[in-house]
Amino acid sequence: MNIVLASNNAGKLAELQAMLAPLGFGLRRQSELGIGEAPEPYRTFVENALAKARHASAASGLPALADDAGLCVDAFGGQPGVDTAYYATRFGYAKGDANNVRALLEQMQGIEQRRAALVSTLVALRSADDPEPLIAVGRAVGEIVREPRGSGGFGFDPVMFIPALGKTFAELPADEKNAHSHRGQAARAMIALMRERWL
Ligand code: IMP
Repeated sequence: MNIVLASNNAGKLAELQAMLAPLGFGLRRQSELGIGEAPEPYRTFVENALAKARHASAASGLPALADDAGLCVDAFGGQPGVDTAYYATRFGYAKGDANNVRALLEQMQGIEQRRAALVSTLVALRSADDPEPLIAVGRAVGEIVREPRGSGGFGFDPVMFIPALGKTFAELPADEKNAHSHRGQAARAMIALMRERWL
């Protein structure tokens, strides 16, 4: 079976392709199929992931899998949440991972409560009008460190410190990040759902 991965984020795509490989599906990136990004107008991860999966499935005629992810900071009441990808633009910086990290560290200066969660919501559809989307959620809780550490991963990984591991996600090899991350948790739950319902 071929499945479209409804994302243009290279970091996410690499992780999803590695973790979903055991299913034996052909995993096609939406950009390879000439499919553009879907609008993400909603206020929850699950609604945006569903919109992305539906868009990719409608455009390709294939089953689709989408991930909507973000950072939820306790001291900010769970924000930036679904607005994470554009966080830096709120403060006059261009969109991008490095500026997101910079803006976050600036906004958290002087804040002692550093707890935050990276959240991943995966939605899979057999077709654009599938009435039973598969939904899997993962959440990794950590502390936002004051200086970036490590060069692996992407996004907020250099400032996402996982106390149980004593490292940031960016200091871990890819397979170790996947073993503990929000996306790893969601991918394992999604694989179980696909095996049960689709295979
Ligand atoms: P999305 O593509 O709208 O889901 O945006 C997700 C945002 O969260 C982007 O700013 C990503 O860099 C960030 N993000 C998503 N997954 C991760 C991760 O695994 N580690 C660090 N940052 C992430």
